Amino acid sequence: MIDDSNRGREVVNSGLFSRRSFLAKSSYLGAMYGVAKLLPMPALAAELAEDSRISQTPIVDKGFASVRKIGDGLYATISDPSKGFQTVCNGGFLAGKDGALLIEGFISVAGAAFQMDALRMVSQVPVKGALDTHYHFDHSMGNAFFGANGIPLWAHANTAKRIVESYGVMQGADKTALLGPLEKAIKDAKTETARKHREDYLAHVTTVFSVSNSTVLALPNRPIDPSKLPMKVDLGGVTAVIESYPGHSGTDVIVRVPEQNVVYAGDLLFSNMYPVCFDTQATVSGWRQTLKTFASWDKDTLFVPGHGPVCGQEGIALLRALFDDIEEQAQKMHKAGVPAAEAADLYVVPEKYKNVAIFAWDFSIGPTITKLYAEWGAK
Ligand SMILES: [Zn+2]
Repeated sequence: MIDDSNRGREVVNSGLFSRRSFLAKSSYLGAMYGVAKLLPMPALAAELAEDSRISQTPIVDKGFASVRKIGDGLYATISDPSKGFQTVCNGGFLAGKDGALLIEGFISVAGAAFQMDALRMVSQVPVKGALDTHYHFDHSMGNAFFGANGIPLWAHANTAKRIVESYGVMQGADKTALLGPLEKAIKDAKTETARKHREDYLAHVTTVFSVSNSTVLALPNRPIDPSKLPMKVDLGGVTAVIESYPGHSGTDVIVRVPEQNVVYAGDLLFSNMYPVCFDTQATVSGWRQTLKTFASWDKDTLFVPGHGPVCGQEGIALLRALFDDIEEQAQKMHKAGVPAAEAADLYVVPEKYKNVAIFAWDFSIGPTITKLYAEWGAK
């Protein structure tokens, strides 16, 4: 285990890794079959087709992700994992007169490089830094790109530790021992639905294992102390404000541009998707409180979510409604005496949410239900 995180930072910042060699190794992403189950998604919510801030034509579209202008010096990178796994999560960048800020390390160095290339299509200003909105692997496994290019990397102060604890431990680990319990859970499943949920879970954890073992982990070298937020970053005519909110991962930070009502929300916002609540530090009550705050912002706010299409306040309203619906069904099951572990498999997606994507049940709806039970003090 890496106990001296500074040593790791020196290694990734030494510039020993050429971009070419990283790109050549990106083929392991072909193993990411699990994520391909995500529904293909448009880059924009239908409601935004007429929004004058948003360019209808992307500056670049590689299938796996496209980049479009969404404001003055503001760009959104929107992924479509059904067409490739270089980025997987969304991101974006801000480019002012004096400097640029890149958002997200993505799931691979190829993804981080793609976004850097997109920035260079529109601006040659120096990159002041990059930012991981949180530690999750689909947002941080391409971090080595920043180290290799001498770009400072900001993230919540706990991000480095959680990357090492979550993905560092998988490197060189015994795959059979690690996945054995998940395979047993499939065998032990009492219903067809439960078995399907456990199978999807195994597929995703297998992906995390493969990606972790194929990646040179790189840690943020500009830890952000959440107690010192908000933090303003002046890029010259564009001011980014970094803030932290609870809910998704215990390490969540967002980038706001209040002057233009634009928010890069990271995974505190899943757009047209069920919330992903599996993290040990995810809290349903904290997350819903955060969404209430987002909903209180200007009605014209544009949100770049961690996953799914760019949206307005209707995207926040939908995610809140999904939490409400899960709670309503969970409460009924609790009152009927259904234990948490069973209830987690029994939520029924209502007809009106049939087109809302689910990123593996056991990462999203299942843990939302067990966490709700825990918040009620129930089992
Ligand atoms: Zn996440």
